[in-house]
Amino acid sequence: MTILSDLQQLHHPLFSQHNVQVKIKRDDLIHPIISGNKWRKLKYNLVHAKKHRNINGVLSFGGSYSNHIHALAFACYQQNIPCIGVIRGEAIYANNFTLSWARHWGMKLIFVDRKTYKCRHDSQYITLLQQEYPAYFIVPEGGSNELAVPGVAEVITELNQQTEFDTLMTPVGSGGTLAGLIAGDKSNGNTDHKILGIAVLKGADYLVNDVKALLPVQAKKHNNWQILTNFHRGGYAKFSSDDVMRIMEFSQTTGVDFEPVYSGKMVLALLDLLEQGYFKAGEKIVLLHTGGMQGLGGMIERGILNAKDWATPKSCDNE
Ligand SMILES: *Cc1c(COP(=O)(O)O)cnc(C)c1O
Repeated sequence: MTILSDLQQLHHPLFSQHNVQVKIKRDDLIHPIISGNKWRKLKYNLVHAKKHRNINGVLSFGGSYSNHIHALAFACYQQNIPCIGVIRGEAIYANNFTLSWARHWGMKLIFVDRKTYKCRHDSQYITLLQQEYPAYFIVPEGGSNELAVPGVAEVITELNQQTEFDTLMTPVGSGGTLAGLIAGDKSNGNTDHKILGIAVLKGADYLVNDVKALLPVQAKKHNNWQILTNFHRGGYAKFSSDDVMRIMEFSQTTGVDFEPVYSGKMVLALLDLLEQGYFKAGEKIVLLHTGGMQGLGGMIERGILNAKDWATPKSCDNE
């Protein structure tokens, strides 16, 4: 799984108006439908799973439209590793866009009610699951554990070969991706890079501690990063029709597709920050396109988005 994703220059009237340069790291193109950052986070988790003789599968957690579950199912299929998805919700979701693919790639699904799902981080529940599936390596929801960090850090290694930059922006959900970027960035000290996370969920101030907890010791003192928590647009997977319009317009202008849960919120934050005069003249900004385009399939399926407006991913039924 060696990856080198493209870096592309973006053009937009607001960029010239505010005298900034914007490039985008296309982790969404790592694979036609596998989410970029989940792929990166899984890399060393799967290396670990394969290396240990007493492990012969991977078990993880997700909602019924989870990018992580989707990516895990495919990665395990590709590497011939058995996998189990513990899914929040009812078995009827097994036929939705995301989980049809997961099953297609051989993932075994276990549906749990919302109350049980809430225990996914509790050590007692994990111990029980581990007893039930002793040969399975348990990866937390979203794939955000310590093994995720070196995989995401490779984004920085690649970027350093591709460009100079001042600010790197990424959407933030659980914080694993941001932690990987911070750990990978050695520029701290001469502070020539700033890493800026855009929280996609509401009330996300706790994320600072979650990110710190994931950082390896030598990166815990890095202070060239920040999480902006005012750009969630109402909460996780919430957005207005105006938000949708602005993301679509941005896609038309730049020629890059986004989705409104993660990458689209980063785009909206960028546009708002530009208008607020947040960036200095001449600033070189890189956006990390974290992928997640499969998520559009479920949103179109549920009528939340209109198929004609978005880069509709291929459904499993047409395989
Ligand atoms: C999960 C996800 C994120 C958030 O990553 P975290 O490591 O959980 O912060 C961002 N973008 C996409 C497309 C995702 O699927």
